[in-house]
Amino acid sequence: MRDAALVSFSCEPGCALCCRASPVTVLPHEVYILQRLAERLGAPVVFTPAYKVADVKSGLRVAISYLMHLDEEGKCPFLEGTRCMVHGLYKPLTCRSFPYLPKVIRYELDPTSREIRIDVKFVMSTLCPVVRRDLAPADVAKMSSIHIAVKYAPRETEVALKTLEKRYLYAKVLSELWKRGAVELDDEGKYPFYPVVNGFAFIRRFYPELTLEKLRD
Ligand code: SF4
Ligand code: SF4
Repeated sequence: MRDAALVSFSCEPGCALCCRASPVTVLPHEVYILQRLAERLGAPVVFTPAYKVADVKSGLRVAISYLMHLDEEGKCPFLEGTRCMVHGLYKPLTCRSFPYLPKVIRYELDPTSREIRIDVKFVMSTLCPVVRRDLAPADVAKMSSIHIAVKYAPRETEVALKTLEKRYLYAKVLSELWKRGAVELDDEGKYPFYPVVNGFAFIRRFYPELTLEKLRD
């Protein structure tokens, strides 16, 4: 175990363990970016909506996060051997922030203030062998604080913050629409028969100037 104050995270070349671990959480606009790349590269991607909120006004459930599933071999469809096919094209934010990622994301609809609130708790994932090698369990525990984690993994925490900002952006735009009465949000569990719409496509109905290019980075 190395001194946590002195080491900084560096991904192990050829590891790709996190590309086989679990579905990748992606944001609504990333679905479009990755779908296009998948078509170009012939990767069999499958996305399913994760968190959704119902809009009673339009009779839709708006997906504001998605899962990109592992393929039949139990790996990310963009993984070829140990090479990420979208590296340098567009790697999902979750992948770029790994091993620093949300452990819990809690969404809450407040009908009084007409706001969607998001509470995120981060974790330095011990699935990553480099984290296990570098850090003692006590140090890992401290890294739920992004201010401490940034010293060990500055690039990854920066992307984790950027991802959080984008998550907040979806919540903020929908909250603004709710406040001005353009949408009537409610718990999606009450409306299982509503069709699901991608959150990026949905908010572009109101803000067409919000393009993929603006959200992509
Ligand atoms: S997109 Fe690339 S980095 Fe992310 S899980 Fe797939 S292969 Fe791994
Ligand atoms: S598990 Fe860790 S070392 Fe392995 S590819 Fe993922 S981030 Fe890199």
